Amino acid sequence: MKLVKEKLIDGDGKRRDGRTFDMLRPIKIDAGPLKNADGSAYIEWGNNKIMVGVYGPRELQQKHLQEPDRAIVQVQYTMASFSVEDRKKPGQGRRENEISKILSEALEGVIISDQYPRTAINVFIEVLEAGAGTRCAGLTAASVALADAGIPMRGLVASCAAGKIDGQVVLDLDKLEDNIGDADLPVGIIPTTGEIVLLQMDGHLSDLEFEKAFGLARDACMKIHELQREALSRKYFNEGESPKEDEPDGEVTS
Ligand code: UDP
Repeated sequence: MKLVKEKLIDGDGKRRDGRTFDMLRPIKIDAGPLKNADGSAYIEWGNNKIMVGVYGPRELQQKHLQEPDRAIVQVQYTMASFSVEDRKKPGQGRRENEISKILSEALEGVIISDQYPRTAINVFIEVLEAGAGTRCAGLTAASVALADAGIPMRGLVASCAAGKIDGQVVLDLDKLEDNIGDADLPVGIIPTTGEIVLLQMDGHLSDLEFEKAFGLARDACMKIHELQREALSRKYFNEGESPKEDEPDGEVTS
């Protein structure tokens, strides 16, 4: 039997959920929802629901892991068994370990870790419901949770993917687009400096398509950065008032 590939973009250029090529799914960020963590954030992004808790910096008990001149950043990305349609096997799989590692590296490039030698900063990213783009949503929320914990950073990290479906470059793939699309390009940047801290690619993009996809993701990160700042402002400043431009995003004090 010949499989007919489902069309993801209609004749008017609209995707299945009505978005045009350059639109994000709806995003809501809440800073500091957890009482027992040093810092926390909750994000809803399309069908994704993700809670992040941060602990630390705390002294590392395992001496062989200690760095004499800085803190180490340990991210644990976990998907709950009930987060996807087919019950996910409990425990950390290969994919979760890989995502934990790349997100640790992304955040290590942002946190001003030399203020906390021999310590660990733990970031727990718990995916409660997954609908594609969880690493980007998790990284975006993790950075808000770190700011909520008062951990100094060179800026917030905003993250978003772009990709290719039906031969067209689009922003922020949903689950079906991710499953049957041609390429996915997760990007994480520090919007205030433009530094790239995460860049992965699944599938194939030409040079031109790559540039277009990267540009779409980078522009979206600017919008996501605003949502991150608003979430922190709601907790730490009067509603609607944003942190001052020259105030490092991570050094928000209560
Ligand atoms: N997914 C799933 N089962 C799994 C792993 C992933 O159903 O065991 C789904 C989930 O919705 C996830 C999506 O596949 O968001 C895309 O996964 P990918 O590895 O591309 O990471 P993500 O896009 O979430 O960063």
